[in-house]
Amino acid sequence: MIDPAYPASEASGIWVFLEHDNGQLAPVSLELAAKARELSRQSGARLTGLLLGSGMVVPRQNAERLDLDELLVVSNPFLDEFTAEGYSYAAAEVIRDRKPDILLLGATAYGRDLAGRLAVMLRTGLTADCTALELEPGTGLLLGEVSGFGGGILATIKCEVHRPQMATVRPGVFAAPEQPVAGNPEVVPLNVDIPMSSCPVRVVGRKIGSGVDISRAERLVVAGRGAANDLPSIQSLARLLNAEIGATRVAVDEGWATREQQVGQTGIITRPKLAVVFGASGASQFTVGIEQAGLVVALNQDPEAPIFEQADLCVVDDLVPVLRALVAEFESNGGGA
Ligand SMILES: Cc1cc2nc3c(=O)[nH]c(=O)nc-3n(C[C@H](O)[C@H](O)[C@H](O)COP(=O)(O)OP(=O)(O)OC[C@H]3O[C@@H](n4cnc5c(N)ncnc54)[C@H](O)[C@@H]3O)c2cc1C
Repeated sequence: MIDPAYPASEASGIWVFLEHDNGQLAPVSLELAAKARELSRQSGARLTGLLLGSGMVVPRQNAERLDLDELLVVSNPFLDEFTAEGYSYAAAEVIRDRKPDILLLGATAYGRDLAGRLAVMLRTGLTADCTALELEPGTGLLLGEVSGFGGGILATIKCEVHRPQMATVRPGVFAAPEQPVAGNPEVVPLNVDIPMSSCPVRVVGRKIGSGVDISRAERLVVAGRGAANDLPSIQSLARLLNAEIGATRVAVDEGWATREQQVGQTGIITRPKLAVVFGASGASQFTVGIEQAGLVVALNQDPEAPIFEQADLCVVDDLVPVLRALVAEFESNGGGA
């Protein structure tokens, strides 16, 4: 067996990698910190946030919803923009030095890149895309629940010997505090020397897409394969309801929606107050993405469609006339928002 970077007996504390952009923490970091606080209350572990950047002031815009005991701030010009090489080098240095027991990261583009590299550099395991986290009674080991084989099984994974125990979690799986919390962490500035050879990639410009973020949508109109019969009405209804448009993987594969709009296991986990689902059969890989919706309304012409097991309101009909009637109704009432 490969030697751990440091023994479990020397490891302590729960850490959350804090992703940020333009002075604002990524929502997933707030969600993870809230979950980590729950775990730290159970184990008595100190809760630490790890923030990397350059000439950085601590993000203020939404930091009031962050409840930590300690905030480690690593500032270095090489960390001005996220690069997997620079961030993983700096994070690994701090982790080897301070030896956390658990490290949680968002399963975002950056978090996934960073987590994989860190796991290799620190010779530890990584449970990716967890749908639940808890501590094992008795041992206090981190248990990460992940779905496998296309959603057919749920596996619980733990890392017994190597440290830190690492897990990534997608945005939207846990809830962030809605109100400010009384966190007043001890802020610890840290210097890490990052050799230029560890940063072969420099970001020379940024272009931000105008894509939607359906993980934050309050209302979703979802198009499945059956909605191909009337996509313009889906768009009209979404506009009238002031909703974002989500889609099943089939709809995305067919090019009716973008990858950013895919709901489900390999797409986005959403938690809207209202999800109206048109022409989706209700495969488990899809429904996992609307499991946390407040109210699910489903339309399908097949009364046996599994989506109806998930829905609060079920409409068995051809979606085309129903959609058109809804659009006409909302238009005559000046919108349904
Ligand atoms: C590893 C893995 C990961 C996956 N990840 C995802 C994921 O993240 N998200 C996802 O969505 N899928 C995912 N899938 C695919 C998933 O298994 C399903 O194939 C997919 O969700 C089906 O999409 P659908 O419901 O649009 O299409 P279908 O299953 O073909 O269902 C179409 C439905 O439309 C109804 N319909 C057709 N015409 C009408 C009409 N005129 N009026 C009313 N109803 C109508 C039909 O009765 C049918 O129920 C994944 C699969 C695997 C193996």
